[in-house]
Amino acid sequence: MNPRILIVGAGIVGLALKHALTRTGIDADIVERSPAPRTGGTGLYLPGDVVRALNDLGLGTALEKEAAPVLRREIRDAGGTLLTASDLWGTDGDCRAVRSNALHEILLDAVGDGDRKSDSDSDSDSDSDSDSDSDNDNDNDNDNDNDNDNDNDHHDLIVGTDGIDSAARPASIKPRFLGQVSWRFVVRSDAVPAGTWTTRLGSRGRSFQTLPLGDGDVHCVAVIGSRAPEEPPGDWRFLFGGFGEVAGELLDAADDPHFAPLHEIPGGGAAGPGRVLIGDAAHAGPHSAALEDALALASRLARDGDVPAALRAFRERRATRVRRVSKHRYQMTQATPPGGWMANR
Ligand SMILES: Cc1cc2nc3c(=O)[nH]c(=O)nc-3n(C[C@H](O)[C@H](O)[C@H](O)COP(=O)(O)OP(=O)(O)OC[C@H]3O[C@@H](n4cnc5c(N)ncnc54)[C@H](O)[C@@H]3O)c2cc1C
Repeated sequence: MNPRILIVGAGIVGLALKHALTRTGIDADIVERSPAPRTGGTGLYLPGDVVRALNDLGLGTALEKEAAPVLRREIRDAGGTLLTASDLWGTDGDCRAVRSNALHEILLDAVGDGDRKSDSDSDSDSDSDSDSDSDNDNDNDNDNDNDNDNDNDHHDLIVGTDGIDSAARPASIKPRFLGQVSWRFVVRSDAVPAGTWTTRLGSRGRSFQTLPLGDGDVHCVAVIGSRAPEEPPGDWRFLFGGFGEVAGELLDAADDPHFAPLHEIPGGGAAGPGRVLIGDAAHAGPHSAALEDALALASRLARDGDVPAALRAFRERRATRVRRVSKHRYQMTQATPPGGWMANR
């Protein structure tokens, strides 16, 4: 018999998990707090293994339409001098960059299809109306008191995919601030070469990253070391002076940026028997491997059937994957040491 699974949170990670499970014949329930989930108008880098897995889930055509190829990775200094570069396409699989809300839409469509396919299942009605479910479940989920315990009566596994302020996470597990804060935004620009993902490393622990998303849109990430997880007062863009003309133009055009302190969650997603956390609920940072986790968990559950065995295998493999991804992404993204300029102000 398939395990009964409850996914809390229909962001990118919850939906990817739901869709991957449906494809393997496991019909999970999913609840969402917000009637119109906000994914933020930012972008995501999808490494080759994630693109491959999304292709295997039947999303290749939609992804190809929405996600731009990322061919090359460059690290430069603030003045623009090339420090290191590598070809990504083919070497690391077919890497892509996508707007978060486009990927969210693709997954929402896919999950809708999955639900329609499983209409004959006796409990599928709880899936197809996740908004009304979420109203009921929020009484339990929102109080950060970990009252999801009630749901354990009905489900063999609860997967918390409810973001950084996860209510599915035991209250005793507190996010640990990593000493860095970030701003993410998307702007239109033809000054950034298509297909090249670039990080510029600045003085005083700052970095500025550009990731072309296709059609002239560029996803930008500005990171700086900070003692506190709060947004500093004043115009944050002045903190990123000295990154050259192109960065200056992009920063000037930044509209409605998404501010986020970078956190890690001690325990890496362990949440007690019959529970697991993935996505921002477990690792809220640029090298979170969130989508990888959703797809790996679905495949373990499909393979093992038995929840405790699947969770054990998932956690073991995850530890290895996190070490690999953290090392790779830390080198490849914003290698900004904790502390930095904000710490010295
Ligand atoms: C600077 C930076 C750069 C990043 N770059 C990348 C990148 O290039 N590639 C990449 O893959 N990732 C990247 N990430 C990570 C990525 O942004 C996140 O991993 C991903 O967006 C998180 O998705 P999620 O579904 O876990 O969480 P969220 O998007 O936060 O979704 C959580 C959902 O749960 C719902 N919810 C919340 N509470 C409840 C509740 N109690 N009950 C029911 N529903 C609830 C919310 O409404 C929401 O819909 C980056 C992160 C940062 C900070």
